[in-house]
Amino acid sequence: MTAIDRSLLDLYTNAPLLELGALADGIRREKHPGDIVTFIVDRNINYTNVCVADCGFCAFYRRPKHAEGYTLSFEQIGEKIEETKALGGVQILIQGGHNPYIPFDWYLDLMRYIKRHHPIHIHGFSPSEVDFFAKTFRLEARDIVRELKAAGLDSIPGGGGEILVQRVRDIVAAKKAGADRWLEIMEIAHQEGMKTSVTMMYGIGETLAERLEHLTRVQALQQRTGGFTAFITWPLQPENTPEMSQMPKTDAVDYLRTVAISRIVLQDVPNLQASWVTMGLKIGQAALHFGCNDFGSLMIEENVVSSANTTYRTTVGEMDRLITESGFTPMRRRQDYSIIAPELATAGAAA
Ligand code: SF4
Repeated sequence: MTAIDRSLLDLYTNAPLLELGALADGIRREKHPGDIVTFIVDRNINYTNVCVADCGFCAFYRRPKHAEGYTLSFEQIGEKIEETKALGGVQILIQGGHNPYIPFDWYLDLMRYIKRHHPIHIHGFSPSEVDFFAKTFRLEARDIVRELKAAGLDSIPGGGGEILVQRVRDIVAAKKAGADRWLEIMEIAHQEGMKTSVTMMYGIGETLAERLEHLTRVQALQQRTGGFTAFITWPLQPENTPEMSQMPKTDAVDYLRTVAISRIVLQDVPNLQASWVTMGLKIGQAALHFGCNDFGSLMIEENVVSSANTTYRTTVGEMDRLITESGFTPMRRRQDYSIIAPELATAGAAA
C-alpha cells in the first residue's frame, strides 16, 4: 500500500464523521458550485430472474426450471416503457440474471424493438452480463458491446461491481466476472464511446482497505478513460439472501463515511448519487452533505432490492420536497446528467 493509500485508510478509519463529511462536501461544492441536486425518473426492468451465477447475496434470482423463473416478452417490456413515459420517466435500466436459455439475437432484437416502438434511453446490461454473453455466445466482449450499441443500447450500468477485489468476489460471486474482467469490460465500453455508471456494494465481508482498493481502481480507470458519469454505493441488504442473511447490517454512520471517502478518492468521477432506496430518505438527505450531488432515481420498479425487503418509495413531489428541505434546488435530469428544463419535466414531455 502506498503512503497515499495509508493516509486515505487512516482518514476513512479514524477521522471524525463530520470532518470527513466536510472534506467531501468541499469537493462536491467545487465540482458543483451551484445549489442544484439532480434526480432522474426511470424504471428498472429486470427482463429475467433466471440466473446461473448463484451470488450469495442475491435474493432476486431463480435457478433454471424453478417455478418462479420468468423472462418478460417484448410486449411486456414495451408496456412497462409506456407506463414509464406516462409518469415522466426518461430512461429504462434493463438488467437481468445470467439466463442460459436466451440467445444473443433476442437481446439485439429487444434493443431494436424498443427503439422502433417505444423509444427511450436504454441503460442496460452490466459488465457481468456482457461477460456472461461473451462466454455463452463465444464472442469478444468488444463485439458484444459494439453489437448492442448498434442495435440501440445507449449506456451501461455499473451493476455487478460489488467489491472489485478478487478475494471478496471469490467468496460471494465466484461465477461472475472477476474484478479485472469487470473493469476491462468497462474500459472496452468507454473505448467504444459508451458512458457508464459505477457502483460499490459493501458489507459483504470486505475490509475497509478493500473498499479503498475498489475506489482507487475505479479512479485509476476513470483517469484513463473519463467514461464514468456517476458513482453510487450502498450496503448489502442481507434479508432473504441465500447465504448472507446472518451478515450484520451496516449502519448509517458507515454509509455516510463510505460516501464521503468515495467523494474524496473519486476525484475524476463527476457525480455521486445518494442511495435513499436502501438507506431511507433521511439518510439520503444527509448524504447530500457528505459528497453526493444527485438524489439518484425515482425508480418506478425495483425488484432486486425489494426482494430483500428493503424498498423505500417516494414520488416526484416528495423528491422535490426532500431536496429543498436539505438546502438545495431540485432538478430532474437525463442519464448524461443534462438538466431537463422544469417546464419540460412533466409526464412524457421530458423523454
Ligand atoms: S446478483 Fe445478478 S448475477 Fe448474481 S445471482 Fe443475482 S441476478 Fe444472478
